[in-house]
Amino acid sequence: MRFDYFEPDSLDEAADLLREGGGTRKPLAGGTDIVIQLRRRAARCEGLVNLKRIPGLADWSCARGDGLHIGACTPMRDLETAAAVAGGYPSLCEAIRVVGSLQLRNIASVGGNLCNASPSADTAPPLMVLDAMASYRTDDGAEQSLPVEDFFAGPGTSVLGSAGLLLSVDLPEPAPHTGDAFERFTPRSAMDIAIASAAASVTLDAEGQRVEAVRIALGAVAPTPIRAVRAEERVVEKEPTPDLLEQAGAVAMEECSPIDDIRGTAAYRKELVRILVRRVLRRAVERARDGGRTETP
Ligand SMILES: Cc1cc2nc3c(=O)[nH]c(=O)nc-3n(C[C@H](O)[C@H](O)[C@H](O)COP(=O)(O)OP(=O)(O)OC[C@H]3O[C@@H](n4cnc5c(N)ncnc54)[C@H](O)[C@@H]3O)c2cc1C
Repeated sequence: MRFDYFEPDSLDEAADLLREGGGTRKPLAGGTDIVIQLRRRAARCEGLVNLKRIPGLADWSCARGDGLHIGACTPMRDLETAAAVAGGYPSLCEAIRVVGSLQLRNIASVGGNLCNASPSADTAPPLMVLDAMASYRTDDGAEQSLPVEDFFAGPGTSVLGSAGLLLSVDLPEPAPHTGDAFERFTPRSAMDIAIASAAASVTLDAEGQRVEAVRIALGAVAPTPIRAVRAEERVVEKEPTPDLLEQAGAVAMEECSPIDDIRGTAAYRKELVRILVRRVLRRAVERARDGGRTETP
């Protein structure tokens, strides 16, 4: 069978190549998902459009006042090794650090993690609690952006359609007295996919006594990564006592809709959500009390 491979050096060219393929060509970033899917014949694909030669798509920046800009093809390792990212957005770094192996993170991109749209994509929950916006180019060439939490349409599908391209993910600078944290549960300590994951971002008042804003997101326990909105409502405008954080975990476990599969039952996943949500909230509160950022960019 004929298989095409392209290395466009502009977005227009990449978009034309995808459109000409009529849904049979796919974008390629690091290739750590798509190449495996091709080998397993899990993806219908007659050609790959490598995005990595397109200027700017693998660039990232992080500066006080500007927040964090992540080009869609930025390798995860670039972010993991940046003090500004670890200090300002610790939940994102915690998620990246558990993805596959160091070798994999040298090529795997944050954009690919989102576009693959797995319910267990590790960078999705932190990006959702960090208020990240996804900028993308639609099938007809228009540029749009939307919150990452609205990016996913179902398991393996996103708003991009067959010829859309993710361009970047942009995170605002966290508000003062904000902390965030991510945890996942895997049976093995490395090279495994989450059975459940959770991220939280908490903004406290200046005294560190009351929750002013909170965001909680869950992975691998619904058809897409989700926000746990009712658990957030349980916590906001209250003192973050251990009992309250426990209650939030119990609410979150009722908000998710996990499935039974080879890696865990739905009941087991719900129990994990209860524990993970309590833990990430506790760590986010601690970080918020410590001043939010752990290092300055
Ligand atoms: C051994 C192993 C371990 C892994 N462990 C983990 C893990 O612990 N946690 C985890 O979350 N994932 C894990 N993964 C999955 C994978 O590594 C990640 O999802 C990775 O971030 C994918 O990025 P990539 O650049 O390699 O994407 P690619 O494989 O290049 O692309 C993934 C999908 O996104 C599309 N795509 C890529 N970029 C764009 C774009 N800019 N616009 C539109 N579509 C685009 C591609 O067409 C493809 O469908 C693992 C994979 C392997 C092989």
